[in-house]
Amino acid sequence: METSSSRDVVIVGGGVTGATLALAQAGLEVVLIDAQPMSAVLTPDFDGRASAIAAASMNQWRVLGIAEELLAVAQPIRSILVTDGAAPGATGRGIGAGLLRFDAEDLGDAPDTPLGFMVENRHIRAVVGQALATAKVQIVAPAQVLAIDVDVKAARVRLADGRVFTAPLVVGAEGRRSGVREAAGIRTYGWSYGQSGVVATVALSEPHDGVAHEYFLPGGPLAILPLTGQRASLVWTEKAALAEALVAGSVEAFEAHLARRFGDRLGPARLIGSRFNFPLALQLTEQIVGARTALIGDAAHAIHPIAGQGLNLGLKDVAALAQVIVEARRLGEDWGSELVLERYARWRRFDVAAVAAASDLFTRLFSNDIPVLRAVRGAGLALVNRIKPARRLFVREAAGVVGDRPRLLMGERL
Ligand SMILES: Cc1cc2nc3c(=O)[nH]c(=O)nc-3n(C[C@H](O)[C@H](O)[C@H](O)COP(=O)(O)OP(=O)(O)OC[C@H]3O[C@@H](n4cnc5c(N)ncnc54)[C@H](O)[C@@H]3O)c2cc1C
Repeated sequence: METSSSRDVVIVGGGVTGATLALAQAGLEVVLIDAQPMSAVLTPDFDGRASAIAAASMNQWRVLGIAEELLAVAQPIRSILVTDGAAPGATGRGIGAGLLRFDAEDLGDAPDTPLGFMVENRHIRAVVGQALATAKVQIVAPAQVLAIDVDVKAARVRLADGRVFTAPLVVGAEGRRSGVREAAGIRTYGWSYGQSGVVATVALSEPHDGVAHEYFLPGGPLAILPLTGQRASLVWTEKAALAEALVAGSVEAFEAHLARRFGDRLGPARLIGSRFNFPLALQLTEQIVGARTALIGDAAHAIHPIAGQGLNLGLKDVAALAQVIVEARRLGEDWGSELVLERYARWRRFDVAAVAAASDLFTRLFSNDIPVLRAVRGAGLALVNRIKPARRLFVREAAGVVGDRPRLLMGERL
């Protein structure tokens, strides 16, 4: 039997971006729909990734009242060391002194201010999920969306169990394969990198001192990102076939391959838990809004993880959309109208294009062993390293503390 209820906003997709938007919309009647049961997404095997979280993203979570819980499980990033590696085994050097180093000083804040935080995705989901329960946000999960129709006044989201939710606005936050995006007829474009990101957690034999390593190898970058408790999260980019072998092979073989790349600098590392394989592709959309529809996060733009910016970009969407909706509501406007949604689209256009273009350029420039490009990028890194304002520009951009920022990203209430 069909039952219909009306809400202010329907959000489809309860990942970190969808759930954060639901939290940011407290005061509105929101329903959050996800295909998975909420309990399933909290297990370590659901998503073994950890995310580099920018200062601006943490500001937003501070306003939403969850920064303290997240900081309790976060590893501050004290510096970032970028190294251009030779082909594995070619020199046996492993990670060297680095060509480029970013420190807190480059951020221009107090000397002990971290450059960002590493937080395991399962912790982020658990903390945001708990806050949603406390705020009594309605969650419908697991649920299957059968159809979405839009008319002049409202969007209608029809579920397989017969429930129908009607609202002035439906938000697509279901990641790369967004049904909301498809229903709105928004086209995507992009390309595969022919690479996969192998994600794993390792125990280190020596303290990491909060240093995040970005080590460029011909197959793609290897990021060794500090976690609490002398652990590190690896994002090891390799050509797709090799990545599969790294995940399917024995633990001993994986650790041996890693040791060849790590070199002596960080000491032997021991694998903890499962390995995960993420095929990497750039996927952008022609629009991030449609009729009574807005897209956020990977549904709107999925980029290469080379600079750890994907989730941060999605959290910037959340802050901008939440502010646009709240301001429209205060002015008595229809927040699902084309006029209001265009404000959101305009606000996000430049930042999304700039971050996507930069991550694509870095991926192409660094995922190869062409001598001329090696020389160019080596000179480029060394130059940036010598010029303080250039280092400062990079670090402040990555921290999300520049440009026309929504209030939540500056730590201000809506
Ligand atoms: C290897 C790797 C490392 C990364 N590291 C970083 C990093 O360090 N920093 C960073 O900022 N970013 C990083 N990213 C990017 C980041 O993980 C993504 O940008 C982020 O997870 C996107 O979040 P999301 O909420 O938009 O989508 P998702 O995380 O994909 O969540 C989508 C949600 O929608 C639900 N869903 C899916 N389909 C449906 C449906 N049909 N109906 C209802 N619900 C549905 C899913 O169950 C899920 O809960 C990394 C990415 C990769 C691949």
